[in-house]
Amino acid sequence: MFKKGTTGTPSFRDTLRSHRKPHHFIRNGVALVALGLFAGAGALAVVQPPPAPIVYQAQQRLTLPDPFPAPLSESTAPFIAETQIRRGDTLAALLQRLRIQERGLQQFLVQNEDARSIYKLYPGRTVQAALDNVGNLIWLRYNHTPGVTEKDGYVSKWLEVSVDGKGGFLASEHSTVADTHVRIAESEIKSSLFGAADDADIPDAITIQMTEILGSKIDFIQDLRKGDRFRVIYETYSHDGREIGVGKILALEFINKSKAYEAVWFAPEKSSGSYYDFDGKNLKGAFLRTALKFSRISSTFGMRKHPVHGGWRGHKGVDYAAASGTPIHATADGQVEFIGQQNGYGNTIILKHHGKFSTLYAHQTRFAKGLKKGDSVKQGELIGYVGATGWATGPHLHYEFRVDNKQIDPLSVDLPVARSLDGPQRKMFEQTVAQYREHIDLLATLQTSDNTKVASR
Ligand SMILES: [Zn+2]
Repeated sequence: MFKKGTTGTPSFRDTLRSHRKPHHFIRNGVALVALGLFAGAGALAVVQPPPAPIVYQAQQRLTLPDPFPAPLSESTAPFIAETQIRRGDTLAALLQRLRIQERGLQQFLVQNEDARSIYKLYPGRTVQAALDNVGNLIWLRYNHTPGVTEKDGYVSKWLEVSVDGKGGFLASEHSTVADTHVRIAESEIKSSLFGAADDADIPDAITIQMTEILGSKIDFIQDLRKGDRFRVIYETYSHDGREIGVGKILALEFINKSKAYEAVWFAPEKSSGSYYDFDGKNLKGAFLRTALKFSRISSTFGMRKHPVHGGWRGHKGVDYAAASGTPIHATADGQVEFIGQQNGYGNTIILKHHGKFSTLYAHQTRFAKGLKKGDSVKQGELIGYVGATGWATGPHLHYEFRVDNKQIDPLSVDLPVARSLDGPQRKMFEQTVAQYREHIDLLATLQTSDNTKVASR
């Protein structure tokens, strides 16, 4: 049993790594909160409803010894191995990595109706196996993508295959409500936003959420600079001590070109949460800064150095070089005022928004299926795809923001913002903010012993 672990099988190392990660992360995260306070960032973040477990959980984890798990005793405790399905994986290779030698298991997994979901071998999903002290299989678990239900929140789902005691196997589906944790992280941009997120072990899903939440404040494709920093507080879900997914961002502070932008999740009623800035202004409804979604591909600073036909002055729009076929999204709710060909602009869509505002999206290779003049579109809705039709030297989106049909530089103006909180909700919001700051202060007090480490990082 214990011997198995110390020989360092790949699966055992996988398991070790997954233990180490959260520990390391929380450690940095907590330390960084303390740092943030010393830097005078009083306006750090807000969590609601009452994020009670933060302080206790973080403190507790910090006192853990270094990541090696306690030696397994020679008792009957099962050895649990875990591995991730890789691209091009085979069932045989997977079972081998888990050190499963059961005859007939592979055949069972292929043939049994109930067990077949494992056979699809989706890359990235995890499979665990519990073996007894002589290496016999106790159970095999294939973890499905966790689901979200309105009643229970995050639900962990898995297929379990166990031995039936008669030389055969049984397969059954299981599910349980996952545990929610709160994580805090900070990072600084050196080469790209995703690189900075990787440095702090922040999952891609959270990085994408950051760009969406602050999408009306920051053009994440053109505006990011080396030295930009962010702090983010978000939910994670775990089952059996293992992280199985991420939830939503609870609070976010992003410093772009020395200007701080904040967002906090606030849900006065359980069903109607939204993101607000720290002044209580709803972040939804304002125009998005860019019509292209941020992705790993578009995340390098090189993106800014591809002017396709000059700067703003030359042609009254903003150009985004992007691969042909990249989806284009409406920057605000509106109506299709024009969809078709326009001289020079090629395939073009003009959306009319509230008030005097309209937006234009040119050079598209094609439009979203079925979209026609007069249709209503929602903010973020797919309207077409990047192309090089009209006068374009290469595939790019030419985007114009117009007021009274006159183009203005969308990067130079404060775009119209949406409604802000007032009345009793406003009061509730402020209470939430205050409550969260208390948590942060307490956290800082608890962490003073760790500050030397912070300074040396
Ligand atoms: Zn252009």
